[in-house]
Amino acid sequence: MEDLLSANARAVLEVLRASKSHPTAQEVYDEVRHVRRGIGIATVYRILRQLAEQDMIKVWGSGSGSARYDACTHQHDHAFCTECGTLLDVPVAIELSLEALAEAARATSIEMSSYEVRIYGCCNSCQERRKV
Ligand SMILES: [Zn+2]
Ligand SMILES: [Zn+2]
Repeated sequence: MEDLLSANARAVLEVLRASKSHPTAQEVYDEVRHVRRGIGIATVYRILRQLAEQDMIKVWGSGSGSARYDACTHQHDHAFCTECGTLLDVPVAIELSLEALAEAARATSIEMSSYEVRIYGCCNSCQERRKV
């Protein structure tokens, strides 16, 4: 499938894969325009939407300005900094029993396809900033 992507789409995908911070469309654009001169932000938005439709990337959050993009599509959890908005991958597995998940899904009448745990708080660099 990747062979069918345009050079612009491949560049966008590469920026996402190289990033650990789940960039916004604006941040992807700021990176990708170094390698693809002349690419416009509207093109970046369109490519991100297409990659998401093809399940090659994941979108976290909604609203065009606040959505964050993730090249890692397998199940993983996130920690979110409520001060600066950084979204981090949790590098360890969070243990959750399948029974508890199934019960939660039943309680909401949701036929579960996936789930995630999200940790909210203050990230390391914001903690450092608070100290000074
Ligand atoms: Zn932070
Ligand atoms: Zn992630």
